[in-house]
Amino acid sequence: MYTYESSKAAFERAQKSIPGGVNSPVRAFKNVGGIPLFLEKAEGAYLYDIDGNKYVDFVGSWGPMILGHAHRPVIEAIQKKAEKSTSFGAPTELETEIAELIKSMVPNVDLIRMVNSGTEACMSAIRLARGYTGKNKFIKFDGCYHGHADMFLVNAGSGVATLNIQTVPGVTAGVTNDTLIAPYNDLEAVKKLVAEHKDEIAAIIVEPVAGNMGCVLPKVGFLDGLRAICDENKMLLIFDEVMTGFRQSKGGAQARLNIDADLMTFGKVIGAGLPVGAFAGKKEIMSHIAPLGNVYQAGTLSGNPLAMIAGFTLLSELNLHPEYYTELAEKAAYLKKGIIDVFAKHDEPVQVNQLGSMMSLFFNAAPVTDFATSAASDQAKFSKFFHGLLKRGVYLPASQYECWFLSNALTIADLDFTIKAMDESLSELSAN
Ligand code: PMP
Repeated sequence: MYTYESSKAAFERAQKSIPGGVNSPVRAFKNVGGIPLFLEKAEGAYLYDIDGNKYVDFVGSWGPMILGHAHRPVIEAIQKKAEKSTSFGAPTELETEIAELIKSMVPNVDLIRMVNSGTEACMSAIRLARGYTGKNKFIKFDGCYHGHADMFLVNAGSGVATLNIQTVPGVTAGVTNDTLIAPYNDLEAVKKLVAEHKDEIAAIIVEPVAGNMGCVLPKVGFLDGLRAICDENKMLLIFDEVMTGFRQSKGGAQARLNIDADLMTFGKVIGAGLPVGAFAGKKEIMSHIAPLGNVYQAGTLSGNPLAMIAGFTLLSELNLHPEYYTELAEKAAYLKKGIIDVFAKHDEPVQVNQLGSMMSLFFNAAPVTDFATSAASDQAKFSKFFHGLLKRGVYLPASQYECWFLSNALTIADLDFTIKAMDESLSELSAN
């Protein structure tokens, strides 16, 4: 029987000093209710909370833990590096080594700049697109999330959707007037915006596989269509690969889906769990960044040695082991089949969206292809299901609007354990 007494006390204490007791809103279990678990440690596919409960983890720190938690080569590399100081604020050869490695793995990267988060990566990419094209507006998609910079907090997914925040106080209309919104997977809506704002749009930013309204896949032709629209209208196509980078394949979504972006943003896997992001692209565009050009962007801790060695160690391993991606996709497909079977057994309609090791399920009888269809899913049922799994030792993201990230540390036994927990949770749901 799982008890949460220590987490409960820790949460009460935290709320006295930290807004809402958490340093990022999606951690607060606001939408599903209950006490957020306070964690003690994690190893491989398992999390341990401060009450000593063990969970099979499908969050993976929201993406970085693609080979599991506390991956030994990464931990040892960080430990060794830390002996030589934690930051210099001056160049190191390691920064070039990771840049070269990423160039060898990811298409269309001539130059790459490291930053400290996905938010920074995306806001810098938009500034660069504006500086390069001399145009101000950009298109983003309803339900996509590109970090918490002001211009992205319009129809945003992730925590903004989970908390149902319609407009964010503090974000001025002056900023958001330049953010244009289209539904995901809707090329006609994009064409209409482009026609209405002729020669005013610098870029389209898109999650090539969306993960911030739950997992939503691009329809066949959607991303190609965006590429064509950008080419026809001298706009840049920015792939936000913060989730998909080094996860959908070693070359990210670009390589997996065979579509070229002009700029890409990265986070999550690139730092192996340390705070890192990056933006990258062709020389012609990237050379507008300071100190080569006047598009200013900077960071005291950017290229931090601990973050760089963690990322370099993990990416090197992924680069050498393409079979990891096959294994991950096989595990995700196994789980998807298990979910579909078990929901069918309980006569409970479900949508399971999955590509590679990104997936999520929706309590919804109709396909989920954009934010509106995602939002039409039964959130109350998801919350009960979430808690049913939690008390059986399975840790899912605490919102139907969040993607699950599988790690290669998961075994088939872990997946069978998860499917059994789902079976029991669904029985409990129908009994209520
Ligand atoms: N882009 C995408 C696609 C994301 O999923 C996220 C975070 N989940 C971000 C950007 C922002 O990254 P960060 O939280 O590191 O600022």
